[in-house]
Amino acid sequence: MSERSDPQSPDALRSPTVDQAGKRKWIYPDRRSGRNSKQRGWVALILIVIYLSAPFLKIRGLPLVRFDIASGIVYALGQTFRFADGFYIVFVLLSAAMLLAWVTSAWGRIWCGYGCPQTVFVEWLIRPIEEWIEGTALRRRKNDSLPLTIELFAKKCLKYLLFTGIILVISNVLLAYFVESKVLLSWIKSSPAEEPSAFAIMSAVFLALFFDLVWFREQFCAFLCPYARFQSVLISVATPTVAYDYRRGDPRGKRDVKGDCIDCGLCVRVCPTGIDIRQGLQLECIQCMRCSDACDTIMSSLKREPGLIRKASKMEIDQGPIKKKFRVRPLILFLMFLSSVIVLSSFVLSRDALKVTMLRQAKSTFTVMDDGRIANYFSLRVVNQSRNEQLVKVSTKSGAQIICSLSGEHISSNQEVTGILIVLTDRQHPLSEIAIDVDDGATLQLALLHP
Ligand code: SF4
Ligand code: SF4
Repeated sequence: MSERSDPQSPDALRSPTVDQAGKRKWIYPDRRSGRNSKQRGWVALILIVIYLSAPFLKIRGLPLVRFDIASGIVYALGQTFRFADGFYIVFVLLSAAMLLAWVTSAWGRIWCGYGCPQTVFVEWLIRPIEEWIEGTALRRRKNDSLPLTIELFAKKCLKYLLFTGIILVISNVLLAYFVESKVLLSWIKSSPAEEPSAFAIMSAVFLALFFDLVWFREQFCAFLCPYARFQSVLISVATPTVAYDYRRGDPRGKRDVKGDCIDCGLCVRVCPTGIDIRQGLQLECIQCMRCSDACDTIMSSLKREPGLIRKASKMEIDQGPIKKKFRVRPLILFLMFLSSVIVLSSFVLSRDALKVTMLRQAKSTFTVMDDGRIANYFSLRVVNQSRNEQLVKVSTKSGAQIICSLSGEHISSNQEVTGILIVLTDRQHPLSEIAIDVDDGATLQLALLHP
């Protein structure tokens, strides 16, 4: 019986992985194979390949995905966004948030159970190794309660050795999402004395991942992940989630009771977050469907219908099979996601090849030259936002003379260059503004000062 069975009890608010004294209760989840776990296993395999290869893949010569901290550039699907271009970054983040909101509203917390790297690596790499070396949930629990023997010590050493190897690979791949592969390779090859700061970064990432995947595990989902908190506002009574069919299962019991649930507790024993789904949907549920597979094995051994625990909306559980209704909330969230993607794509596809910023040089006004002409000084910053090399041409049709340190310079894709622009005009020049044409048709209006 779960401590949450009485919603009025103070224990109802406490995570099932924490005891009354506030101490961590280690979870030893049992495993039962079933339709959902097979499906999840295949998805996890594909995702492990994607997560471990994505930072090394290229699309039209650019990284498929990288948040290049050193150069301040985000690469995504063949497009580049500079950290300074906050506008694009905001739309990228907005699109990602809208996608998550739409998926959650339509299909529940499917991301946590199937796609989240934390779940994928813990469930499909870390736990299977633990089970392979230390045995079943019962055996592992027993091992940890008994004094350490030589055999158990050897098993634990082997387990942590394998964890170390796997997490070394994962942590370096994680760094490849932020650092260019060539740089990362040089970090890996060099000794800590040669590259002390690189060694510190690599060690910190490795230790953080080791702590999370090996020890913290489900605590991350229950206490740190902000998405777990959002789910209650994103789902509705019509959203399919993992649910116990209480109308069919209750009253529970082993003998002489009418409900299908025999109160064997297997659904709780297999849960990686330690909850009892029969108490309703809870914050810790990552929608992994382990409980559903486990209950199906019990139902099949009793020759009863599977699906006592299944994916169903609260409405379906409360009212029985209902006609599928058109749902407005997922549609609105999908349209919001689509709009943000369309806005982002249209801005990205229509942006100029060269982004030019010109500012008057700090603390400068104008200078009257010996020949009577007036000089105005500007700082010029040019970013090549295209995928090809670009030639910078600075010219003016206003009759003024311009001297530009960048004119005629070739700049490669994503390169940023800065230079100086001097505008010389006659004292009698009628204009207080002149247009400077930069290659690719960009025209900038400059305010000129004069006596
Ligand atoms: S596994 Fe099924 S039968 Fe067993 S306690 Fe859970 S819901 Fe009841
Ligand atoms: S309640 Fe079921 S679906 Fe939710 S985390 Fe536990 S085992 Fe997974």
